[in-house]
Amino acid sequence: MNTSDSAESPASTQQRYEPLFDEVRAEIEKYFEPERIDLIHRAFLFGAEAHKEQKRKSGEPYITHPLAVAAIMAEMRFDMETVIAAILHDVIEDTSVSKQEITELFGEEVAELVDGVTKLTQISFETKAEAEAENMRKMLMAMVRDIRVMMIKLADRLHNMRTLGFMRADKRRRIARETLDIYVPIANRLGINAVRLELEDLGFAALYPERHRVLVEAIKKARGNRREIVDKIESSIGERLVQEGLSGLVSGREKHIYSIYQKMRRKGLPFAEVFDVYAFRISVDSVDMCYRVLGSMHNLYKPVPGKFKDYIAIPKANGYQSLHTVLFGPFGVPVEVQIRTEQMDKVAEAGVAAHWLYKTGEESSFGTHARVREWMRNVLEMQQNAGDSMEFLENVKIDLFPREVYVFTPKGEIMVLKRGSTPVDFAYAVHTDVGNRCVAAKIDRKLAPLRTPLMNGQTVEVVTAGNASPNPAWLNFAVTGKARSNIRNYLKNLKTDEAVQLGRRLLENELAIHSRSISQLSTGVVDVLLRDFKMESMDALLEDIGLGNRMAMLVARRLVPKGVATSKPARKGLKRALSRYVPSWLWGEKVDTSQPLMIKGTEGMVVSFAKCCRPIPGDPIVGFVTSGRGIVIHTENCKNLAEYRKLPEKWIESQWEDDVKGDFTVEVRVDVLNQRGVLATVAAAIAEMGANIDNVNMDDRDGRYSTMSMVIDVHSRHHLASLMRKLRSIEPVIKIVRSRG
Ligand code: MN
Repeated sequence: MNTSDSAESPASTQQRYEPLFDEVRAEIEKYFEPERIDLIHRAFLFGAEAHKEQKRKSGEPYITHPLAVAAIMAEMRFDMETVIAAILHDVIEDTSVSKQEITELFGEEVAELVDGVTKLTQISFETKAEAEAENMRKMLMAMVRDIRVMMIKLADRLHNMRTLGFMRADKRRRIARETLDIYVPIANRLGINAVRLELEDLGFAALYPERHRVLVEAIKKARGNRREIVDKIESSIGERLVQEGLSGLVSGREKHIYSIYQKMRRKGLPFAEVFDVYAFRISVDSVDMCYRVLGSMHNLYKPVPGKFKDYIAIPKANGYQSLHTVLFGPFGVPVEVQIRTEQMDKVAEAGVAAHWLYKTGEESSFGTHARVREWMRNVLEMQQNAGDSMEFLENVKIDLFPREVYVFTPKGEIMVLKRGSTPVDFAYAVHTDVGNRCVAAKIDRKLAPLRTPLMNGQTVEVVTAGNASPNPAWLNFAVTGKARSNIRNYLKNLKTDEAVQLGRRLLENELAIHSRSISQLSTGVVDVLLRDFKMESMDALLEDIGLGNRMAMLVARRLVPKGVATSKPARKGLKRALSRYVPSWLWGEKVDTSQPLMIKGTEGMVVSFAKCCRPIPGDPIVGFVTSGRGIVIHTENCKNLAEYRKLPEKWIESQWEDDVKGDFTVEVRVDVLNQRGVLATVAAAIAEMGANIDNVNMDDRDGRYSTMSMVIDVHSRHHLASLMRKLRSIEPVIKIVRSRG
């Protein structure tokens, strides 16, 4: 029993779809041997199965679209991998098929091509400003490492334009505009004229249906009227060639609608004047013949002065070669003649694609980059012979091998940055203030470390905080000049400003013990002091104090005349000694020695965290004034503190602010069972807890156990505690401790 509508089994899907493959088969049979045709057919079956639930807007099975794209590639005689990739070009984007699967079934080359097309497809144009078309084109070119990806994308666009009629009117217009703004110039740059011209006419028809209709009508009418003249000129040319013993194939040539329209607009000419040109092409078999035919044409009809162009000696930037001339024809009508060899004609049609023309036997030895380079070399040579290589170099080489990376702002504007740029570079490119205040970044809406190198087509968003400041560590990865000089500048200024501020508070604090303040000091006293210390200004002195080069206590003693009553604090034990040096300087206006120094973590370079004990928010801490480095924060139980105990005047009691933000590095030691993938397991757990790993050292104690020393970034003691709890719970972890000193 067999019913016709049980179309669910693969076998019947195959039967139903098989006729759809006919067009591709007819094309590939012209140049591939049976095994290759078989492989392409397998790709068709796989694609048809993957897309079987989907339909095109026209109601046809979805697979008709990729097949049409593959047919276009085959018409251009592309290699087998490209034809297969064309058949599969939408499966990653639209079905559950993965790149991995394609690799397994059809090889890495095909998988890379499909992946490349998918990435181009994922770029959304909808919100992007029109004025960005130039950058958009560059970005698309920058994204394709293999030019065949762009070829498939152009063929994809071509077929979508051919079937645009099924779309909603507004969507139709948007796609048409995008085609004219983005894809037409790319096709032009690559010299693929056949594709370019069709995209232009389809785009024009969809964008301006009314103007298109009027022009088509006008052309139809004009064509009838001029048939006679066309035939007359064509036979005159043919006869003249025969008379002179020259060989060439004459064909009438109709101008494309879009180029007529553009010429009318550009030159403000009426239709009749633009269209009233009779155009012919003469194909010959050698360059020498081109010039001889040209001579005979200039004999047949008088040439229009100033209209002759020798694109053979001076090719166009995309490699186009031909002779162009305009003649005064019979009854005074202008006659445009193009003369070129068949080879030149092929290049004019296919551009860079001409280098893929499949040739049996030699294809595998000739990689895709080699082909592009060969094309570029050919064009370059032509240009150099013409003494004008600059335009080509600028336009083509930069397009194909760019040194820039193109990314989007959240509003859809394109930013052009140096290769290797990070979110920090991006932030400074937006605005210096954005750079200075950036704390985090989202790439394609996901949080990402600030050091992540950006890739073409990503959307980057910078998260800023009002009180944030640049981090010296950014200099390790920022690549743009703007970012680097801004970070350096900011840090330099910041250090001075903060050191002065800190110095002022320390000195005020000290003077308060003598019931004095800086504002009460007489200029005479200050001048003497500055001269003695060889300091240029009070600020310079305060900076020196702030940086820990000079003790506030000693300076204060010099400033206060002997005999002035002092309110001596009782010195009982370390705690008391500390409280003497507690400034409320940074935040409170009043000098209140009972307030500890509050640490926010964003103080800049005047406050730093000791590498020996790596304090994190939540740890009891203490500050220590260090010569040249401002205040260094240690944990209260740091072993190194013992030797500082003799210097109580350098101590500053410190505390964490309640809402400290940011990452703090901490070191942990993890003992693990030595098994495969253990580092990956531990790293994954750490990442899952939202912490960054800065550094890992593995030490194999013996065969069974290893010790990992890891430097990781955490937010707080609490964060660290839950992270350690998490690590303890994974199987290979035996022991985990925070290392100190
Ligand atoms: Mn497609």
